Amino acid sequence: MTLSFEQARACVLREVSAGRGNLPTEKIASLDAAGRVLAEEITADRDYPPFRRSARDGFAVRAADVPGELHIIGEVRAGEVFRGSVCAGDAVEIMTGAPLPEGADAVVMLEHTERSGDRVKVPRSLQPGENFNARGAEAKQGNIVLPAGCRLDFAKIAALAMVGRECASVYRRPSVAILPTGDEIVEAGQQPEPFQIRNSNAWSMSVQVARAGGDPHILPIARDNYESTRGLVEQGLTHDLLLLSGGVSAGKYDIVERVLADVGAKFFFDRVLLQPGQPLVFGTARGKFFFGLPGNPASTMVTFEVFARAAVELLGGANESPLPLLQAKLSKEVRHKTGLTRFLPARLSPDGSTVAPEPWQGSGDVYSLARANAFLVIDPDRESWAAGDMIRVLLK
Ligand code: AMP
Ligand code: MG
Repeated sequence: MTLSFEQARACVLREVSAGRGNLPTEKIASLDAAGRVLAEEITADRDYPPFRRSARDGFAVRAADVPGELHIIGEVRAGEVFRGSVCAGDAVEIMTGAPLPEGADAVVMLEHTERSGDRVKVPRSLQPGENFNARGAEAKQGNIVLPAGCRLDFAKIAALAMVGRECASVYRRPSVAILPTGDEIVEAGQQPEPFQIRNSNAWSMSVQVARAGGDPHILPIARDNYESTRGLVEQGLTHDLLLLSGGVSAGKYDIVERVLADVGAKFFFDRVLLQPGQPLVFGTARGKFFFGLPGNPASTMVTFEVFARAAVELLGGANESPLPLLQAKLSKEVRHKTGLTRFLPARLSPDGSTVAPEPWQGSGDVYSLARANAFLVIDPDRESWAAGDMIRVLLK
């Protein structure tokens, strides 16, 4: 079955979300959990902030008393509590992060005051609530601060520290089998004959799997015969996800689909209106999802990014897997033959505002992808973009 790019992506997201079942979890140290997917809800153990916290260095006052001249009755620093109360005409010198003394309802910034001895002049007016964070403004005790299914980044790890969680329950990394195919493929450490190609796909896929939160396992290269491919496909299907590269085109020795069918595969699609990467197989067999990615290195890398990555992330417990898309201004004209969605190697300018296509020789050109830092997303139903037009960009 042939699908458009959008249909195929929706299919992958739908099928993997529905079919992933109960995912295994483990408890790990929060400090080691960057990039992992949270398997529990994290709630606030107390109100945040836990007290009325000054956002400025200045004076805690009663808003009704200013403008005016006030009597400084003391000071309060972060980590202290002022023992006493701000009454009419009083001010307490306060530092950023300190709790607002009782009776005060605003903080006037140091820059907006004139002090002499124990008197302070406040020439401007203030609203109650100015320059401090109310207790519980960020989260109330018991509120969910991190939902299950989110990938832990630096700010989320900080949130774990805030609520005192040294350990957290996360989803196990899905085990992903990587199965290169092809009689012409030799391992990267080998000296190839002139007609042979080194196995770069296993390396790119391995890095992409790890980046998506999976645990990559590179299998031996399957040769283009039934026995070799079948044995390794069966081995691959013992993992949570099987990624094949090559052997899915229409050639005489492209036998991956036949082998998959013989192990009971259900195919959701076997072609996508996409370049690079038209022949592209997605399905399930023996309770596991698999992708047959095209073997041309650029096709393998692009189809991983736009399809298999989502599967790895969802199988790793993520509750969503959006594409990192943005818009930038094209620096030169782009035309294409309509009908296919294309992901073309591109360079986004350092400030992210403009994008230029990177010269490339087609699906085999790894060096172009290596130079690129993004992909131009070429919509299938539009023929040309002029220099200066906004265009979608997929971050690499
Ligand atoms: P295929 O999809 O099997 O027809 O492969 C298409 C082309 O991709 C082949 O001609 C190879 O040059 C290249 N190719 C296939 N597998 C790999 C691999 N593992 N590493 C690098 N290039 C590959
Ligand atoms: Mg092949």
